[in-house]
Amino acid sequence: MGTIKFGCLLLLISFGGLRISAQTPQQPKQIVIAASTVLDGKGGVLRDTRIVVEGSKIIRIDPNAAPVNYDLRGLTVSPGWIDSHVHITWSFGPDGKNAGAAGTTPYATYAAAANAWATLLAGFTTVQSVGSPNDIPLRDAIARGALPGPRILTSAEPLFGRNEQSGTPDEIRAFIRKQKEAGADLIKIFAAGSVRRSQMLLSQEQLNAACDEAKKLGLRTLVHAYKDAVRAAVLAGCTQIEHGPLATDDDLRLMVQKGVWLDPQAGLVMENYLLNKERFAATPGYPEEVFPMIKAMIPAYHDFFKQALKIQGLKIVFGSDALAGSHGRNAEEFIDRVRDGGVDPMAAMVSANSVAAEALGIGNQIGSIAAGFEADIIALDGNPIKDITAVRRVVFVMRAGVVYKNNSYKK
Ligand SMILES: [Zn+2]
Repeated sequence: MGTIKFGCLLLLISFGGLRISAQTPQQPKQIVIAASTVLDGKGGVLRDTRIVVEGSKIIRIDPNAAPVNYDLRGLTVSPGWIDSHVHITWSFGPDGKNAGAAGTTPYATYAAAANAWATLLAGFTTVQSVGSPNDIPLRDAIARGALPGPRILTSAEPLFGRNEQSGTPDEIRAFIRKQKEAGADLIKIFAAGSVRRSQMLLSQEQLNAACDEAKKLGLRTLVHAYKDAVRAAVLAGCTQIEHGPLATDDDLRLMVQKGVWLDPQAGLVMENYLLNKERFAATPGYPEEVFPMIKAMIPAYHDFFKQALKIQGLKIVFGSDALAGSHGRNAEEFIDRVRDGGVDPMAAMVSANSVAAEALGIGNQIGSIAAGFEADIIALDGNPIKDITAVRRVVFVMRAGVVYKNNSYKK
């Protein structure tokens, strides 16, 4: 990581004797953040304390640490958010129309970099992109500090269910291995169509092969699923269900039993299609007649969210499905979840902090404000627990100890 190096090497010459000590390492510089309200990422709230950062990490929480470098008192401080489901390269083209996620022109490439920057400024310090092979160079450029953006985990090329045409179990296993070799951090699988066309696009046998091979390679599997595909993915040992409407209570209880995560959406992705209708209309996959259907579908997603909340022990993670038009507006999904999905505001916050980090398999590195965690720290003007719309007012963003945004003085 190309984080900022603090201080410099000092050439210290001792005049007291003959000994010349060159390049004595300086004490690593610490950054002290003062805060009056800190959401710890696990559902707890710290009051009137200071967060001490050294390099890319939080090294301690100490109310007496000094001197203060960033005074975030009066704001709400939180771990940077994690969006478990985005399409970071998906953009509008030079003509303003939906250009999908697969573009490789200079225009598409810069648009993807701009999506990453917008996402980071909106308080999202980690995203899981599900995904495109074009994610990989962007992920790597951000990781080495060459571009600003959130930490990216990517699925590279997803496995699109096409029934028999998806291949034999052996062919599917080979496809999964190919993604691993290409640098995928996880595997994305499309196992069903949509709420309207919910039939399975992969057989149980095909799903078994995909999720088993991924597991052998140490990769998690995120499965786009509705209705019967939800149960089939759970039975196949897959890690996480994306979307999920039309699953039954029994299916959801089976998820609890098998420790499978659920990433349902409460609105942003559909609202975004409607908001940017002119830009999506008549582009591949978005015929004119689809928009009234999308609008009509929204209540089904709200109802599914409420259904899922009633299932004891179900692990619900935050994922906005951000695509062209919604990068940088990911936090709108929090508002939808609280306002329309019936989610408790603190649960909504935690679903994008420690719960999401755990789902990503890095719950000991990100998603919490505590000693030893990455210094991914944001501040909001307002308190989202009292007013969820405060998630729109991110005024401070630090990722891995580097400050990318600081409008806190305007508070
Ligand atoms: Zn998606």
